[in-house]
This record gives sequence, C-alpha cells and structure tokens, in this order.
Amino acid sequence: AKADGRGTFRFYDARLDDELQRRRRLSAELRDALATNALALHFQPLMDAGSGRIVGYEALARWPHPERGWVPPATFIALAEQTGLIEDLGVWVLRAACREAARWPAPLTVAVNLSPAQFRRDGAIAEFVSVALRESGLAPERLELEITESLLMARTEPVLRALRELRGLGVSIAMDDFGTGYSSLAHLWRFPLDRVKLDREFTQSLADDAKVGVIVGSVVSMAHALGMSVTAEGVETEAQRQALAAHGCDVLQGFLLGRPAAPDRLPHQNNQNADK
Ligand code: C2E
Ligand code: CA
Ligand code: CA
Ligand code: CA
Repeated sequence: AKADGRGTFRFYDARLDDELQRRRRLSAELRDALATNALALHFQPLMDAGSGRIVGYEALARWPHPERGWVPPATFIALAEQTGLIEDLGVWVLRAACREAARWPAPLTVAVNLSPAQFRRDGAIAEFVSVALRESGLAPERLELEITESLLMARTEPVLRALRELRGLGVSIAMDDFGTGYSSLAHLWRFPLDRVKLDREFTQSLADDAKVGVIVGSVVSMAHALGMSVTAEGVETEAQRQALAAHGCDVLQGFLLGRPAAPDRLPHQNNQNADK
C-alpha cells in the first residue's frame, strides 16, 4: 500500500510537472508574442439603447497562436497576471487601443480593460494612460477604462488615489461585470465611477425571473441618481434588447448588436463606406 501511495504520488508529481512545463512554455510564447507584436485587438460595438447608434467599442485582446489557434483571453490574461507580464501587456493594449480609436470619427469612444495588477505600482497606471493619450492624440474624453470590483476590495486608499489621477486626466471609469461580486452601488459611491456595466448574467436571467427586471430597474435608477450611466452586457436577443432599454439602460453590448471584430471590419466603417 505504501509503495502504491508513493507510486501515486510520483504519478501526480509528474502531472504537476507537465502542467508547470506547459504553462512555462505558454508564458514564454506569450512574452514572445508581445515582443513581436503578434497580439491583436478586436473591438466590440457599444450601442446607444435609445437611438441604436454606435457610440464606441470595447477593446478585447486576442492571441492568434500559430499552433493552438485563438487562445481565449480568460487563459492568457490570467497567465499574464500570474507571471507579471500583465503590466507590459496592459501597456500594449492601452497604446494599441488609443492608436486605433484616434482614427475613428469623434465622438466614438474606446473602452479598455484594466487588470487589478496594473494598479500595483503607485502612479504607474496614470503615467501609462497619459503616455498612450499623448502619443495617439486621442482626446481623453474618448477613453474609458474598465475596472473590476476586486480592485476596490484591496488597497483601497492607493487605488482611490490612482482612480482620481486617471479621472484627472479626463478619462472615464467604468465598473465592469457589476453584480458578480459582493459590492452594491451603496458601497461603490465612494469611488469615482462614471458607469456600471451590468454583467451578462442579468441579461441572461431577465426572461426567466421577473425579479431580475426589478433589480436591473433599481440598479439603473440608483446609478442614474449617483450620476453614473449603465451599460448592459451580453445582449443576444431582441427581447433582451427591448427589456433592457425599457429598464433604462443607456448602452447595450452583445452579439445581437455586434461581435468583437478586427479594426478594419468595424460596423461604423461599413456605414461610412456604404457607397464603396
Ligand atoms: P469582459 O471585459 O467582460 O468582456 C466581454 C466578454 O464577453 C468578451 O469575451 C466578449 O467577447 C464576450 N461577449 C460579448 N458579447 C457577448 C454576448 O452577447 N454573449 C456572450 N456569451 N459573450 C459576449 P472575451 O473577449 O473572451 O474576453 C473575456 C475577458 O477577458 C473579458 O471579459 C476581460 O475580462 C478579459 N480581457 C479581454 N481583453 C482584455 C485586456 O485587454 N485586458 C484585460 N485586463 N482583460 C481583458
Ligand atoms: Ca470589459
Ligand atoms: Ca464585462
Ligand atoms: Ca467578464
């Protein structure tokens, strides 16, 4: 039994080794992709709920891997966070997103996701954002930064300072995936936020349970009373679109309105170049 135990232990040990190897290789490849400019950004339309007009795009990082195909951001962003590569990757995303958005007609905006790890060094994030704005020439009011609730849970004071610095640059701040964590708007009011993005769980459960509509409606009215706009994520059906608009959501995002796409295939360009 003892030998079996040891054998089993060795078996798991080897598997752990494999997994470690795999992750090391993947993270080396990610570092390489970043260095050789092999990462890409796709952009998903953000639509005004009332008029149906595109008001901007969310930038979403993409990694076209030569053998593995498209590695999902959930995989490589987490990897970058664990290996410390996220700061360089985050800077790359910021610069590429601002450079791209500067070519769009004003007032189209771009939203960029920030990882909590990008707030670890005090003062760094505001500096990176300021450089990205300066070198692209993008007007600060056309850049929105998406943060997550987990950022606000730890190191509250330095994070608050960083958010105020960012706001001071003239960019806006959105709380992403709202409703998936533990915070309520009653807690978030202390932070300088311009927008909440309702997680797609709300959108998806809207049809199943009338209570969800009540929650969405009250989040919207509280957000508005606090001076924040509301974006609903994950809109996939016409029924969801209508319900979310009826509940007062300002902006809608989801596959119904447009999938993330490469910068040369964005819908506002199609409209402009309709005669070409
Ligand atoms: P997120 O910020 O919540 O981004 C929205 C995700 O929902 C995207 O997944 C998008 O493709 C997907 N989505 C959009 N509309 C729909 C819909 O109607 N239905 C469904 N089922 N999904 C929809 P994606 O691109 O795979 O990104 C996943 C996550 O990876 C993002 O979630 C974000 O947290 C992270 N991420 C992506 N790019 C970056 C980045 O540049 N920096 C950081 N820090 N995180 C990023
Ligand atoms: Ca986001
Ligand atoms: Ca989200
Ligand atoms: Ca998410």
